[in-house]
Amino acid sequence: MNKKQNKKQWQENNIEHIKEYSKKYYSKNKIKILKYGKQWRESNPKYAKEYMEQWRLKYPEDSKEYYQNHKNIILEYGKEWRKNNPEKFLVYSMKFRKTEKGKVSRQRSDSKRRAREKEIINTLTFNEWIEILKRYHFKCAYCNKEFDLFIKPTIDHIIPISKGGNNIKENIVPACQSCNSKKNNKILKKIEKLGKAEVDLSEKTER
Ligand SMILES: [Zn+2]
Repeated sequence: MNKKQNKKQWQENNIEHIKEYSKKYYSKNKIKILKYGKQWRESNPKYAKEYMEQWRLKYPEDSKEYYQNHKNIILEYGKEWRKNNPEKFLVYSMKFRKTEKGKVSRQRSDSKRRAREKEIINTLTFNEWIEILKRYHFKCAYCNKEFDLFIKPTIDHIIPISKGGNNIKENIVPACQSCNSKKNNKILKKIEKLGKAEVDLSEKTER
């Protein structure tokens, strides 16, 4: 048996002992080890990337679980990094767009957006919007403030587009900017009732 084989044999015989020792060593020197790891990754970006890729392929469940458990930290970190390195981020995203992964990711977000747009019925015309404004006497449907140069009317969807509402005149009321951004369900119900009364009224006058 040569030296190397000897060492291996010893390691195999003392596996539990070694595990215990490295665990203790790690917890005692955690900061130093993490710092060293960071330094190494920074000075060997290519190896580090390769190593990470391999680790991800080898332990897909582990990395998924790690991501789930640290999602907020990772996202927060990414946000912070993008804010501090806008140029690097631009270069990175331009490079990413050209990769296979980037292409697939873009196709996916494009088709998602198209599907969203397709599902919405979008028939509101300018004249209809004016009609709605007239019907509400150029006042905010929620707080009743009159619109002027400073309080501009915004299109408010009673059922938000994000919840499956459509861009059609029946789903639209005029709202001032501040009401539009803090609309709550209580007011919504009130408006729904008002809206119904309004419809009844217009049916009667049409006859
Ligand atoms: Zn308002």
